[in-house]
Amino acid sequence: MTNRKSAALTTAASPAAKRPGRPRGAATQSPPTAEALLTRCIKCGSTERTAYRRTTETAHHGTKHGEPYTHIIRRWTSCAACGQHRVDMSHENRVSG
Ligand SMILES: [Zn+2]
Repeated sequence: MTNRKSAALTTAASPAAKRPGRPRGAATQSPPTAEALLTRCIKCGSTERTAYRRTTETAHHGTKHGEPYTHIIRRWTSCAACGQHRVDMSHENRVSG
């Protein structure tokens, strides 16, 4: 992997990619919602947490539960109930371009 230490990104950062837009005259539609799982404290089971202190994403190809992914996202947080620190990790399968 040539991907050196991945840049720490703020969650608000979004690439200024060209926008897909909608066909002229088409009605605005809200896309369906796909829910991401709540993360949970490994120690006490609480889902209450502090704001993420740091988020990094790493370009890494692999498979998770048989599904391919292209990026691993890690978010540093701690449990609001017991103070246990943890890293919430998620996998994303992104198309390039
Ligand atoms: Zn906890």
